[in-house]
Amino acid sequence: MSVTVRVAPELAFLLRPRDRPTRERRLGFDPDATLAHVVQAAGVPLTEVGELRLDGVPARPEARSRPGSVVEVAPVARPQPVPAGGLLLDVGLGALGRRLRLLGLDAAWSNDADDAELAARAAAEDRVLLTQDRGLLMRRGVRGALVRGSGPDEQLADVLDRFAPELAPLTRCTACGARLETVAKAAIADRLPAGTRRSYDEFSRCPACGRLYWRGAHARRIDELVRAARH
Ligand SMILES: [Zn+2]
Repeated sequence: MSVTVRVAPELAFLLRPRDRPTRERRLGFDPDATLAHVVQAAGVPLTEVGELRLDGVPARPEARSRPGSVVEVAPVARPQPVPAGGLLLDVGLGALGRRLRLLGLDAAWSNDADDAELAARAAAEDRVLLTQDRGLLMRRGVRGALVRGSGPDEQLADVLDRFAPELAPLTRCTACGARLETVAKAAIADRLPAGTRRSYDEFSRCPACGRLYWRGAHARRIDELVRAARH
């Protein structure tokens, strides 16, 4: 006796390679397993799941299948709201984090948090945890999202598509994420390269780490990112 998990095309990449053409995974029937268990056993974290159907009828993740059941799995609807606390990036996603900050998003990141710390911080600060680690997303109660894409540009496009956040370029420090403050040119003139001092009049400073920002230094990069994101 078995249960069949059938996933939407958007989720097929999460199945084993041999199951991707049919988008189906057959699993042994377990009377104690909820649909949530069955779907995750097929390789799909619940964070990626929208509507579930059990034998054609919408069902909750806590429901139980029957022998021979078919569980249909739709992807989570996009765009999805960003929680009040913002985003939290897994250790390996630092380059994505800098891009998100350049666009003004609250994207927390540290280079040495383990899985338990990440899960706890996301919950404590009301952030959604962005990761490429399915095992992390399958931890109980984690609010997260699986980031698609092998490089930071693809990953950025995926995150912007998934959450459609409001962008506010050049309002946050790309290094530490703090909100930038405007600063008078006279106050920082001695720290500027001569060409910059001649060409620009508006500057921002990070109150946390002291980095300086001006539109010229980042304009092309921001325009590229925004254009790629809207594409
Ligand atoms: Zn800073």
